[in-house]
Amino acid sequence: MSESTIPRVPEEARSRAAVLREEILRHEHLYYVLDAPEIPDDRYDALFAELRRLEEEYPTLRSPDSPTQRVGGKAAEGFAKVSLSAPMLSLDNALDIEELSAFLARTAPFAAERGYLCELKIDGLAVSLVYEDGVFVQGTTRGDGRTGEDVSANIRTIRNLPLRLSGAFPPKMEVRGEVLLQRQHFAELNMEREERGEPLFANPRNAAAGSLRQLDPAVVAERRLSIFLYTVVDPVPFGVKTQEEAILRLAECGLPVQPAWKRCASPEDVLAFVEEWRDGRFSLPYATDGVVVKLNSIAAWYELGATSHAPRWAIAFKYPPEERTTRLEDIIVSVGRTGALTPVAVLSPVSISGSIVRRASLHNEDELRRKDVRIGDMVRVRKAGEIIPEILGPVLDARTGGEREFVMPECCPACGTPAVRLEGEVALRCPNRSSCPAQLKEGLRHFASRNGMDIRGLGDKIVDQLVEKGLLRSLADLYALDEETLASLDRMGEKSARNLINALEQSKERPFPRLLSALGIRFTGSRSAEILAEAFRDLPTLRNASEETLAAVDGVGPVMASAIRSFFEQPENQRLLERLTAAGVRATFPVSESEGENEPFGSRPFEGMRLVFTGEMESMTRIEAEETAKRFGAVCSSSVSKKTSFVVAGRDAGSKLSKALSLGVKIVNEEEFLEMIREMDEA
Ligand code: NAD
Repeated sequence: MSESTIPRVPEEARSRAAVLREEILRHEHLYYVLDAPEIPDDRYDALFAELRRLEEEYPTLRSPDSPTQRVGGKAAEGFAKVSLSAPMLSLDNALDIEELSAFLARTAPFAAERGYLCELKIDGLAVSLVYEDGVFVQGTTRGDGRTGEDVSANIRTIRNLPLRLSGAFPPKMEVRGEVLLQRQHFAELNMEREERGEPLFANPRNAAAGSLRQLDPAVVAERRLSIFLYTVVDPVPFGVKTQEEAILRLAECGLPVQPAWKRCASPEDVLAFVEEWRDGRFSLPYATDGVVVKLNSIAAWYELGATSHAPRWAIAFKYPPEERTTRLEDIIVSVGRTGALTPVAVLSPVSISGSIVRRASLHNEDELRRKDVRIGDMVRVRKAGEIIPEILGPVLDARTGGEREFVMPECCPACGTPAVRLEGEVALRCPNRSSCPAQLKEGLRHFASRNGMDIRGLGDKIVDQLVEKGLLRSLADLYALDEETLASLDRMGEKSARNLINALEQSKERPFPRLLSALGIRFTGSRSAEILAEAFRDLPTLRNASEETLAAVDGVGPVMASAIRSFFEQPENQRLLERLTAAGVRATFPVSESEGENEPFGSRPFEGMRLVFTGEMESMTRIEAEETAKRFGAVCSSSVSKKTSFVVAGRDAGSKLSKALSLGVKIVNEEEFLEMIREMDEA
């Protein structure tokens, strides 16, 4: 371009670009580094698109440090920095069908032969994984696209990631994909954070990013992250010519691949895929915010190359977030398991992103004031991360003057105890830990839940009645209930009362890790409860373990160790454990050679066999697998010897597997073990 054809930049455009750059950089820092965005993604996207348009119109505005010329983000402190072998780029966005069609038209000559590959855009965070000789050795985040953070220890906690590949693979292989948090786990994580008065994650992507950047891998393991892989960095030694082949080969290596991908021969097929998933995505258990359209031919990727921000051979079509307007009928206050008081909006039912929304948390008083929502307002609602209903704000034009401001109560609505605000917390709390009925109800629900003591028949309505009638004042009172008392409750006949008593009796036999998880110790979910149970074997030993001893257990970090210690030091918890023990809650660790078998099955095909389980299993916990094997007559041992009949090797099997190999002991994988069990069940 000659100087005379370069358009002069009007002052207005120059200053607008400067404002946009500064705003975008600030939001990128909040989003990528602090995992705490202040604005929704579509607002950020609109700022970014405006800056890109200005820079296209006036190219001299495009400085090398402009957000449009680089990948947002920065490697966080606390992790070793890793130089990425090839840049990890962003993707250009198409915010509507016209922009997507323009991309399809632009790239049509490159799609003539092999078409496009459409994949769902998973709302997670990008990672790069290195396997050497088929073994996982390093996992890195995207950072600024050139330097990432070494998060290998945390990546290892991801349950659906094989740490050893299967099939054929090159000696060194680098693959890339997306770490995600399922909607359900995201919702639970935010519920726990709300309960603890911690800031909420805006969406599953921020939650996944915040989780992967935890310094304590034990805390990461509890977050239940998952992963999908979608790219191999150097496709040549992998022997693939198309993205379709690459995806199939990744799956053959045992790597998880999101299954909804489709090869599309024409632009019409691409648009049909986008339409098919517009609503279809709500049925998936994880959030997807769009479709990534890639040229299928890998030769075309090399030909087209990339800008410093994104490849030219792919685009991310983003679905607009669904937003609805409805009436805020009322604001009520809920009391959580640890006493946090949360204002909750009661809404006129409205359908958003695949389900009917009736309630939305307003989080705390500060948030309520900031949003200025009032009872009677028409409010704008959407779902954060396609799952958690969120009130964006009132429709000011629709106000009639009859709306009422809401004031948080000074006392707990459940027990009347004056609420307190703990230092550094935004949430108000009911400090009455020992006898607030609302806290007790929530604690009971958690205790009886499926991952806890699994007390069938102790539903919400029964819990409510038991607490409201003063029949339960502590978790331990559960075991003092009798059939007659239960039968007198609403919705309870004699038969259900008897069933519940039986369920309570059975729950006393739940193994030690279940009890640990049921107690609701901070940071201790079902996975860490198993690790703790395996390390300490019984409650008294665990209760007496010092913080150092706890933190020294593989899989328990300092944060969890300190939370466990402080739980056992509280007198009310000590009393509770004593009463549970006195009631007959045995909390045994059931899998050891010395213990007797429980509930043996009629046929005992494993009789006389010695089994060793190693690594993680997909379909059940190790403890459940051991319990099953024992019921078929096996003795389960924790070490491999010549006497071992066979080893069941799950994911990430380590030294026990090597020992079995060296001793020539038979090894079966999880699928083969399950097959044996199925055959026995049928016999
Ligand atoms: P992006 O999320 O728009 O797209 C690139 C990413 O898509 C890749 O890095 C990869 O992680 C992911 N991806 C998911 N599925 C994929 C697949 N099948 N194939 C290839 N990639 C796939 O780009 P970005 O640079 O990671 O982030 C930019 C986006 O982040 C913006 O569009 C905006 O929505 C959001 N953001 C929001 C704020 C805010 O303040 N709210 C700030 C910064 C960024």
